[in-house]
Amino acid sequence: MAGSRISTKLLAMNMDTELQKHYALLLGIGSPWEVKNVELKLTEKKVEIELSWQWGADAQCPECGRKCSIHDCAPERTWRHLDTMQFATLIRARTPRADCPEHGVKTMKVPWAEPQGRYTLLFERFAVDVLLASASVSQACELLGIGWETAHEIMRRAVERGLDRRQLEGLKHLGMDEKSFGRGQSYVTLLTDLERSRVLDVVEDRTTEAAERVWQTLTPQQKEAVEAVAVDMWEPFIQAIQKEVPDADIVHDKFHVSKYLGEAVDKVRRQEHKELMAQGDETLKGTRQLWLYNPENFNPEQAQEFAALKDLHLKVARAWAAKELFTKFWDYQEEGWARRFFKNWFGWVSRSRLKPLVEVAHMLKRHLANLLTYLEHRITNAVTEGLNSKIQSIKSAARGFRSFRNYRIRILFFCGKLDLYPL
Ligand SMILES: [Zn+2]
Repeated sequence: MAGSRISTKLLAMNMDTELQKHYALLLGIGSPWEVKNVELKLTEKKVEIELSWQWGADAQCPECGRKCSIHDCAPERTWRHLDTMQFATLIRARTPRADCPEHGVKTMKVPWAEPQGRYTLLFERFAVDVLLASASVSQACELLGIGWETAHEIMRRAVERGLDRRQLEGLKHLGMDEKSFGRGQSYVTLLTDLERSRVLDVVEDRTTEAAERVWQTLTPQQKEAVEAVAVDMWEPFIQAIQKEVPDADIVHDKFHVSKYLGEAVDKVRRQEHKELMAQGDETLKGTRQLWLYNPENFNPEQAQEFAALKDLHLKVARAWAAKELFTKFWDYQEEGWARRFFKNWFGWVSRSRLKPLVEVAHMLKRHLANLLTYLEHRITNAVTEGLNSKIQSIKSAARGFRSFRNYRIRILFFCGKLDLYPL
């Protein structure tokens, strides 16, 4: 202990003006701020840099920028800076308080940090990078040597900055989608920019009211630019779009359609499997995935098994064929041809008497006008689906968010494509 105290003293004595200049450069500060003292605390693995204001220089009002006299100095504050060679580096300073004739006594802005920040701008910038690159927030916390709350604060401020700077002109194709939130049956509604693959905002719930609220985060001019919205056949969302962006086309998303058809195929399989098992027939045992996969992705073994199954005149094979056939709908260029195709497909499914499929066919018929809009706009919610895995990892990393606000900040931080940096 005594030894380290001596070495601290020696090091302190070696601090010359060159080193002080070096730190001033590192911190990006200049006159009238200067490095007054650099203290190495070896046992604590800390460097403390004391900054001071050159008296005589004018103070500046943080509100109006006017040059003022100095009233006094605020109490000393500490900011965490980027580590220096694994030494936690802290900045200490007493900030002058300007005496503005208009705004009164105000603590000046400092060039190295945001007004309420406890971290320097460089530290925050680095932290943003580490958070973006880390597999989880807790990993980033560990790397940065900060706590959960601090990480959240840094993300919150970064998102705030990003939203302030964000340009929302020329939004053309948007998507609306829901995501589950927390445990149980809670949902959030997401508005996404399909062209730039980014989440625009998130609101709690998936009601008409919630959907309207997420649209209201845009200005009337921004909404006017929107040409089409990709969305599921979910009534509250459809109503909100019709109210908030009445001139935009609604495009029911082909991935959602394919999901409904897939679920119908699965229902047919389960029912048929039950019937066959009652007669001791295990034909459909363990075939669930085969009917759901895209045949293009089968391995040779699966392809063989599937080819054999398809020829057995099973109900599920007919259901599967109906689903596969429907994918042709999206390839049409002309509405007339697509309508004709749909009519034939619908007739065929109706005659099939496969109840789950007939139900989906009726739903598609009710929404046909907004399926045909796809031919013009060619948009899907694939972007939202792509963001899904990111959002999923945000959710699982946090093990069930307690507060929606935190969840929203995370989604916008990781999926908002915002300019998050303080510098
Ligand atoms: Zn002022």
